[in-house]
Amino acid sequence: EAVRRTPRWQKRLVFFTVGVGTLTYACQDDQVLQICDGTGKKKKVVILGTGWAGASFLRNIDTSLYDIHVVSPRNYFTFTPLLPSVTCGTVEARSIVEPVRNIVRKRNCAFRFWEAECFKIDPANKKVHCRSDVGTNIDGNGEFVVDYDYLIVTVGARPNTFNTPGVTENCHFLKEVEDAQNIRKSVLKCFERASLPNLSEEERKKNLHFVVIGGGPTGVEFAAELHDFVNEDLAKLYPDVRKYVNISVIEAGGHILTMFDKRITQFAEEKFKRDGIDLKTNFKVVKVSDKDITMTNPATGEIAVPYGMAVWSTGIGTRPIIMDFMKQVGQGNRRALATDEWLRVQGCEDVYALGDCATIAQRKVMEDVAAIFRVADKDNSGTLTVKKIKDVLGDICERYPQVELYLKSNQMKGFHDLLKDSDGNSKELKELDIEQFKKALAQVDSQVKMLPATAQVAAQEGLYLAKCFNRMKICEENPEGPLRIRGSGRHRFKPFRYRHLGQFAPLGGEQTAYQLPGDWVHVGHSTQWLWYSAYASMQFSWRTRMLVVSDWGRRFIFGRDSSSL
Ligand code: FAD
Repeated sequence: EAVRRTPRWQKRLVFFTVGVGTLTYACQDDQVLQICDGTGKKKKVVILGTGWAGASFLRNIDTSLYDIHVVSPRNYFTFTPLLPSVTCGTVEARSIVEPVRNIVRKRNCAFRFWEAECFKIDPANKKVHCRSDVGTNIDGNGEFVVDYDYLIVTVGARPNTFNTPGVTENCHFLKEVEDAQNIRKSVLKCFERASLPNLSEEERKKNLHFVVIGGGPTGVEFAAELHDFVNEDLAKLYPDVRKYVNISVIEAGGHILTMFDKRITQFAEEKFKRDGIDLKTNFKVVKVSDKDITMTNPATGEIAVPYGMAVWSTGIGTRPIIMDFMKQVGQGNRRALATDEWLRVQGCEDVYALGDCATIAQRKVMEDVAAIFRVADKDNSGTLTVKKIKDVLGDICERYPQVELYLKSNQMKGFHDLLKDSDGNSKELKELDIEQFKKALAQVDSQVKMLPATAQVAAQEGLYLAKCFNRMKICEENPEGPLRIRGSGRHRFKPFRYRHLGQFAPLGGEQTAYQLPGDWVHVGHSTQWLWYSAYASMQFSWRTRMLVVSDWGRRFIFGRDSSSL
């Protein structure tokens, strides 16, 4: 009766709507079938980690071609270069993180994310074993197994303590957002503690002694941020204890920022001296207790200094899951997983590794070096002149910008010394022993392997691999391929080539150093503006871009927030 009474135009509207809906659904289904492979099932790509490499891959992969599954203990991506700014409240923690689900949401694709940690990779059975902290499953232990067709390992690295006693218990690290938040709270607690009544001068000094262990970019940037925070904001709020504040940077080597050009190192050291930051070079920390830090120096021997808060920033180490995986695929005790130039893990099938947990084995580089070297030694005399070496190196540097970068850094001092005689003059056109040269090249090789531990490398690798995956299906359908990649033994894709875009080192006081490939170096206030614009444009989304820029604006107008929240 109800149907009979419904006006005809309404019945038509319902009919039309249901029809269009059904058709749309069918077309979508059709589309799904089209993008499935021959078995009617899309290949499953499992990504471990949501850092620079993982997020860059996820952002660029064509999600309609694969079944994407992501496993990571955190459901967001962190813009790590701004972590030091979070330690002092220049930028808020939430402004530099992007939820993973947001990255793929707009593309309306089939995507699964599990907030869990992978604790074992089983390449033989193509499975990964994961454990979640956020909930338990039917077995009650939160563990589950995920199988894969392709596995992308981007689990990054962990802080390296070099097994120094007491570091894990007493020092802060600066790797995750939580670390930065804890440091911020700890700095403010030190100020509150030092301001309490009935404290001796010594105790106030101890509480306000901030120690940074490690003179790399992260340690230096944190020390500079802290110095600005103290001078621009906390000095006004805690005038009584300002005079007790002391910031020390302890570095085991002779200089800070050794991976940068010497001019930047020198500028940073002089600036720190002017700012009153106590730079302790050639000091090696051997023990940290809850009261003091013990360090040794060839001149002074062992000394212990009391401290209020310490930040350990001496580089990165290998995650246990990677160590276990390396053993399984016969890579032994390396620092990072060795991959070929197509980012495929050596020793197993369909596993790719990128970012800090991996390194491109430089065998190819060394093969090229050897080839160029043979050409240079045409006369087969078994000796090389410095001129020949320079020609060879020029050629290598053109092919591998990362080699050039390392050759120019302070770390390659030994190599440059080799080309000089005992009086320090260049051994121009003198003959050198080939074995000596080979040893020096081996040194270049081992240094180059250390290169990929930056966000720049990780992001470029993620983009490269996503592009390869996007083209993989086209290549499979057209096995002939373009002429340049046809033929047995050839690869379908060009190998990964890192393009170095320069490196910033913020030094505080609105001054930043910038080093471009080649010899171009700039330090100063104008570079700080370049830093602001570069980091604003590099944000993952417009949302975080707006948040970061508004945080900077808030800091300029109102100063940093000093509540220990
Ligand atoms: P990460 O970004 O560390 O990501 C690793 C991911 O794996 C994370 O999501 C983590 O949760 C996840 N994960 C860890 N274990 C597991 C597991 N078992 N299972 C699943 N997932 C796991 N580089 C620059 O180029 N410029 C800079 O200015 C710069 N500044 C920095 C400042 C700081 C304070 C720090 C800490 C680093 C900085 N870096 C910088 C280095 C840069 O952050 C790293 O090189 C980059 O993060 C490496 O990317 P990744 O994807 O390999 O690892």
